Amino acid sequence: MHPLLARALLALAMALVGGLSGWWIGEAGRLPAAGALGGALVGHALFLAQDAVRAGRLLRWLRTQQDHPAPRDTGLWGELGYRTERSLRGRDQAVEREVSRLAQFLSAMEASPNGVILLDANDQIEWCNHVAADHFGLDPVRDRMQRIANLVRAPAFVAWLQVPAQNEPLILAGLDGTRSLSLLRRPYGEGQRLLLTQDITERERADAMRRDFVANVSHEIRTPLTVLSGFVETMDSLPLSEAERRRVLGLMTQQTERMQALVADLLTLAGLEGSPRPPTDQWHDVVALLDQVVADGRALSRQRHVIVLDVSAGAAELAGSRHELLSAVGNLISNAVRYTPEGGRIGVQLVWREGGGAEIEVSDTGPGIAREHIPRLTERFYRVDGSRSRETGGTGLGLAIVKHVVQRHGGELVIDSEPGKGSRFRLVLPASRVRAAHRVAG
Ligand code: ADP
Repeated sequence: MHPLLARALLALAMALVGGLSGWWIGEAGRLPAAGALGGALVGHALFLAQDAVRAGRLLRWLRTQQDHPAPRDTGLWGELGYRTERSLRGRDQAVEREVSRLAQFLSAMEASPNGVILLDANDQIEWCNHVAADHFGLDPVRDRMQRIANLVRAPAFVAWLQVPAQNEPLILAGLDGTRSLSLLRRPYGEGQRLLLTQDITERERADAMRRDFVANVSHEIRTPLTVLSGFVETMDSLPLSEAERRRVLGLMTQQTERMQALVADLLTLAGLEGSPRPPTDQWHDVVALLDQVVADGRALSRQRHVIVLDVSAGAAELAGSRHELLSAVGNLISNAVRYTPEGGRIGVQLVWREGGGAEIEVSDTGPGIAREHIPRLTERFYRVDGSRSRETGGTGLGLAIVKHVVQRHGGELVIDSEPGKGSRFRLVLPASRVRAAHRVAG
């Protein structure tokens, strides 16, 4: 039954019962009509009182947080309470769902590797993730609703913000001294703007390195080429005696060898960069390996140096690429021979390290290297003495190759040197890559 009809019937029934009771009581005093009227009024008043109590209960519930169920009355008030409660619960759930979706959305933006800033129509920060905060030195909570131009004052940035439509990213270089950022801006909503920031410091550095590398390689190749073409011209235009012709051909061969060495080193580096890590289960005899590179070193030295191989550490094995390890130790010995003056001493030895692992050490009594050059020696084409390096057939890539090889084997290259006191280059290898040979069976 419809609650309003039920309610009307209840009011009528209460008045009727009251009226009948009044009639019955009134009859004793011979005033049945007055009794009936009074009884009906009392019945109606009771109905209103009951109504007021129920309405009061519902009102009290509505005035609270509605965290407990609505009063479970019968009739109209019961239904009103139940329906209000259901609608409020439904709305609460919808709000909760929206809040959790918003939280999920914001945490997705928080997880972004790029910075995200939401700006309102006045360029005030509505929200920003931690990456953007870090890029600009902002506080995601404290700086909310601050104008971004008041916080990020780089003139290029402020000017860029004022240009209405901007599809090109802005590159902000040198922020915090060294950092470079790429910024993109996109409009959304009602005049709001999305600002995306990306740290491109590494990319810029890699680009600069690539540019330098190409410039260096071009320079290294152009120099011998220029010399060669000069000789070709000389041979073509001048009548040369046999002795002169031989001398020129000798010099031309030198330049060709220089270019060949450069290309070989470039290919070695490219090979190291593009190939997987050397195997950890292919073991090579260290003494045999050192014997081979020392023999090559002696051939290069042509008796001008004393080259001593110390294998007193005993038989050992190295895991990795024999070819790469030969090239690394070979480069160190070749450097020692090339830079150490005649009569100098070159030592090669394997030393076990206390904490595990071992090192292959190549030391010399050469000119040594000043402290400021040491950290840069492994940079490609970095030379302390350019003319000495070129005269002796150096490419400027040797130590870059050594460092690469040792790092690929999980180790590091350590250089100790002092001008006038010689140099010591150590390939420090981890315990996982080097072991005493008696522990092994094949
Ligand atoms: P390069 O082909 O010029 O020898 P490297 O990368 O092998 O190139 O070495 C970089 C620079 O380090 C060399 O140009 C040289 O100045 C210096 N250097 C390397 N080994 C020695 C050494 N044993 N004694 C003195 N200087 C050295």
